[in-house]
Amino acid sequence: MEKQAFNIVWIKRDIRAQDHAPLHFAAQSSIPYIVIFLFEPSLSNSQDCSLRHFQFQYYSILDFNNRRLQHGNFIHILKEDAKEVFNYLVNCFQVNNLLSYRESGTQLTWERDKWVQNFCKEHQIEWIQFQRDGIQRGIQHRKDLEKRWFQAITAKPISNEVAKNCLQIDHPFLLDDAFKLSLESYSKSFQPAGETLAWRYLNSFVMGRGVHYHILISKPAESRKSCSRLSPYLAWGNLSIRQVYQFVRSHEAFASNKFAFEGMLTRLRWHCHFIQKFEMECSYETLCINKGYEALEHTNRIDFLLAWKEGKTGFPLVDACMRCLKETGWINFRMRAMLVSVLCHHLDIDWRLGVYHLAQLFLDYEPGIHYPQFQMQAGTTGINTIRMYNPIKQSIEHDAKGLFIKAWVHELRNVPENFIHEPWKMAMLEQELYGVKIGIDYPLPLIDIDAAGKLARNKIWGHRNHPLVQTESKRIVVKHTSIRNRMK
Ligand SMILES: Cc1cc2nc3c(=O)[nH]c(=O)nc-3n(C[C@H](O)[C@H](O)[C@H](O)COP(=O)(O)OP(=O)(O)OC[C@H]3O[C@@H](n4cnc5c(N)ncnc54)[C@H](O)[C@@H]3O)c2cc1C
Repeated sequence: MEKQAFNIVWIKRDIRAQDHAPLHFAAQSSIPYIVIFLFEPSLSNSQDCSLRHFQFQYYSILDFNNRRLQHGNFIHILKEDAKEVFNYLVNCFQVNNLLSYRESGTQLTWERDKWVQNFCKEHQIEWIQFQRDGIQRGIQHRKDLEKRWFQAITAKPISNEVAKNCLQIDHPFLLDDAFKLSLESYSKSFQPAGETLAWRYLNSFVMGRGVHYHILISKPAESRKSCSRLSPYLAWGNLSIRQVYQFVRSHEAFASNKFAFEGMLTRLRWHCHFIQKFEMECSYETLCINKGYEALEHTNRIDFLLAWKEGKTGFPLVDACMRCLKETGWINFRMRAMLVSVLCHHLDIDWRLGVYHLAQLFLDYEPGIHYPQFQMQAGTTGINTIRMYNPIKQSIEHDAKGLFIKAWVHELRNVPENFIHEPWKMAMLEQELYGVKIGIDYPLPLIDIDAAGKLARNKIWGHRNHPLVQTESKRIVVKHTSIRNRMK
């Protein structure tokens, strides 16, 4: 019997129905198509993955499928590795095209994609990979990159009409009950997933939440409302960068909040700028991007690492951030940078020992941003100013009354403002009065922060003169910065 011919749309980090190039291409084709999303067991166990990511993907797909009357598409959720799935599909059907966005992923997804590429060649399937958010593939330098990115971001978004040729098929790769149950246990403390909610967040940001964006951006408590909070929607593709860019830029509220909104739009550019770095050099995940920093030694105390992971360092703001992150999946940029700085500089731990921990906790985990940002904050690029964030200073500046700390470090909830940033300075009598024994109920600080900061500064600044750091810095500047930035 002749096999039925169709195309496959493979959804990855692009779970949305609008401004979707692969869906548009498939809908325009003369043959039908199916849409698939894979929960791949061989990737699910990797160190950067966590249940909260799968849950966000799952609920994004449910939202998509619930609206299928509006757009005509249906995403099949398959729990199996790409290898098995594609083998099965070519056995049952005649697959003409595989359509997806390009993924700037980790080593594992890159290897998987190489396998898929070979498989497609072998079976005469054309794999058309569309450009995601203006990120370029296969380039060796950044000449004209900004111009090309800007063209992509300002081009009209694709208007996906109601599809008529999207099929639903039976397949053997259904979610088992245990996995489904775990997906459905999505905590209400996380941001709700899906395109519908993504637009609601975007709208409320522009209509009011974002007015003081630039003033409150570094405040751990206030920024939860004043930042756009679009990061998980962008990371999992509920929205494209150009949808957001154009919505904000053309909104009637833009003119009266220009300063705030332009700051946010600049960060959309950073989003792509970092992913572009990663696309051009994916070793960011596992190796110091500046190879000269491989020679820098760390004490790597495991007890320090565990305390950092558990939010028990004895530095209230650090612990509040880690506990908040565990519970909600989000903290702002400054607090992320501070967590990395404390880990790599003050506690003297190799960035690789903490990088996956935060990847798992971030609901918005995006490899292309995460690894380059982590290395930048860890000071291993050799081209960026090394910033050391003293957690006590950050705490006094950005959580002056200690409200964020008290919300997340319950042991300190009765401690007054004058002690909240350095509770170990309380006398025994005060500790009794405020119901917390430092060293028993809440830990003493792991280190003397000033002494550790000084040591770290000397060490990392001293290492900048290492000949390999110097050579590598030159290479990185040429490869990863634009001529305009180099001139600056
Ligand atoms: C160590 C470290 C790891 C990080 N890992 C991630 C990650 O895995 N995924 C992620 O989306 N962001 C990451 N960031 C960047 C940043 O902290 C988040 O994008 C931001 O806090 C998200 O909140 P928001 O959506 O309210 O951002 P807004 O301030 O409202 O900005 C709008 C969008 O711009 C982008 N953006 C904002 N800040 C940055 C930045 N500094 N670099 C690149 N893009 C930015 C995001 O897509 C964000 O959603 C990381 C930062 C650090 C220091």
